[in-house]
Amino acid sequence: MPTPLQALQKHFGLDSFRPAQHEIINNLLEGKNTLATLPTGAGKSLTFQLPAFLLPGSVLVISPLLSLIRDQVQKLNTNGIRAAQIDSTLTPDERQYNLTAIANGEVKIIYTSPETLSQPQIHRLLKSIRISLVAIDEVHCYSEWGHSFRPSYLSLPHLSRALKPHAILCLTATATKKVASDIRKAFRIKVCDHISQPIRRNNLRYSVIPCQHLQRFSQLIDILQRPDHLPAIVYVMKQEQCEELSAYISKRTHHPTRAYHAGMSTADRKKVQDAFIAGSIEIIVATIAFGMGVDKSNIRSIIHFHLPKSPEGWLQESGRAGRDGKLAFTYLLACGDDVIPLTNFIRCRELTERTLSRLITTLTSQGKNIVIQPYQLKIQLEVLTSTLDVLLAKLELLNLIKYSHTSWRFVKMNTNFGRNFNLLDYPKSHRPALQAILNNNHRYDLHDCRADFGIAPEKLYQTLQDIKLSGECRLQFSGWQKHYILRKPADQIDIPALTHQLNSYHQEQLASAQARLDAVQRIATTKTCLPMQLEKWLGIQHPPCGTCSACTEPPSKRKLPHQPLEDLKENDIILIQNCIHSYGKRLNNAQKLTRFLCGIPTPYNRHFFLYKRPEFAAFRHHPYDTILAYAKALMGEI
Ligand code: ADP
Ligand code: MG
Repeated sequence: MPTPLQALQKHFGLDSFRPAQHEIINNLLEGKNTLATLPTGAGKSLTFQLPAFLLPGSVLVISPLLSLIRDQVQKLNTNGIRAAQIDSTLTPDERQYNLTAIANGEVKIIYTSPETLSQPQIHRLLKSIRISLVAIDEVHCYSEWGHSFRPSYLSLPHLSRALKPHAILCLTATATKKVASDIRKAFRIKVCDHISQPIRRNNLRYSVIPCQHLQRFSQLIDILQRPDHLPAIVYVMKQEQCEELSAYISKRTHHPTRAYHAGMSTADRKKVQDAFIAGSIEIIVATIAFGMGVDKSNIRSIIHFHLPKSPEGWLQESGRAGRDGKLAFTYLLACGDDVIPLTNFIRCRELTERTLSRLITTLTSQGKNIVIQPYQLKIQLEVLTSTLDVLLAKLELLNLIKYSHTSWRFVKMNTNFGRNFNLLDYPKSHRPALQAILNNNHRYDLHDCRADFGIAPEKLYQTLQDIKLSGECRLQFSGWQKHYILRKPADQIDIPALTHQLNSYHQEQLASAQARLDAVQRIATTKTCLPMQLEKWLGIQHPPCGTCSACTEPPSKRKLPHQPLEDLKENDIILIQNCIHSYGKRLNNAQKLTRFLCGIPTPYNRHFFLYKRPEFAAFRHHPYDTILAYAKALMGEI
């Protein structure tokens, strides 16, 4: 077997390891589960790609970023390393082709997402082959105390261990002590196997520019026109601001500029990302959706147009500049006005115990097999998408429920022109149901098929999937639903106690989001070195950098500049009263009314098109709690 260094030279054409890479790889070869926290650009991918040549079997890489998976796979394949992905972006043919190659053990590096890995069929397949290493990228998503918790990560420790790999490697660029300890416990990693690289990047110049909202525009243009500041990424808070600001920059600077956000189609996003990497676009105005995993080493400046939500985010986004080691700049245009919308976004996630107990009752009143329709449930309970996902994940952690699979509730079926559909090809007991669905001009509710035809919905669903794959018929599924198993007999569940537990957990989550936002404000006004304070938040101690704005400029003000907050006037009160009068049926409690007035994009506001009303977001510049207090008083809730 070649040594790691020989493999590096032979398969990757590189002459030496970067700091920590060798140590991590040796750890993995020795079969030790390892947590690696290395800054963005440090070369984490190599630490799981190289062992593919040193260990028998395949390496499994789990990443949340589907677009990134595609890029990495293409790159490896052009370098002659057989890699393949399995995830929801593949066509059925591609999927089948990849699965066959994987089953035959031909694929050295397999990429997938946490959601795909939890599909029983995929997990079984991976269990049947030899997996040398499981690498989990962006592993901070595992921790509920991280800044980007993803419920789908919760099942990874269990799913990874079941594959019996030689070692598990967890990777991230940022982890606070608490997050790192969460990860170590879950993936059974010893303290001494946490390998980290001090994240100080000496080529980055950090600056905070305190300014009023309107001054930000001229400041931004000024920064973008400084020498050696392009390519650049400008981060903004909301999707709609991307387009506006991008148009403004194009007009003022004449540099090719584009917006990038989650509201764009995948194809458009890819186009923008590729053009930026190739250099034909010089400035990107993006929400934080952009940049994770984008491999562009010569970004010269990162500008936060708004306050980031957390110190981790600030550090991570800033770290995308200067990955080539050359001088690069990061700026925060710090305006205190942002504190209100950012705080509102935390405050509006406040829930009542009643909502939580309704959620628990919905789950526990269905017997062992639970089906929920997330879309409807979010509207019924008036909660945000991310809140529902997190609550369900928490109930999994509390052992109340276990995720099983997803399916569609409704189906509409038409024969495909020119294709032969023969009922006789399908199970006899399913034929009457299939015939009925085919004859039906409307969508058929699969919940009814037990009563209508004596067939279990899961069974019929499976047959419908087979028909869809065959291409003989056109099937349209709708009504996405999630299936869970209830893990305790319903009569042994103490709903009030569970509600209470869930509530205190949720309160803690909100408090920790608030603490992160408070820390951002504190650090933005620090007198003692910006990177030092950001690193301190992650539990790392470094001396002052001597180059940031806090180190080199006279101390800035204690408070960020902001517009004085005006109290509500008589007109405002009348506006609220009019809303109660006109929309009282829809906005029938103070919380709904406040979310509407503060312009929170909840599933409820979207579903009933409330965001199209002129009064929507009328009070977006006011604190949520103030509006809530008025709403309660005017609706007689206190
Ligand atoms: P990370 O995931 O830590 O952000 P990547 O794995 O994307 O970083 O690597 C960043 C860049 O560094 C890539 O272009 C990669 O090819 C390069 N790189 C990694 N290891 C080495 C090395 N030992 N020598 C030279 N370049 C390297
Ligand atoms: Mg990476």
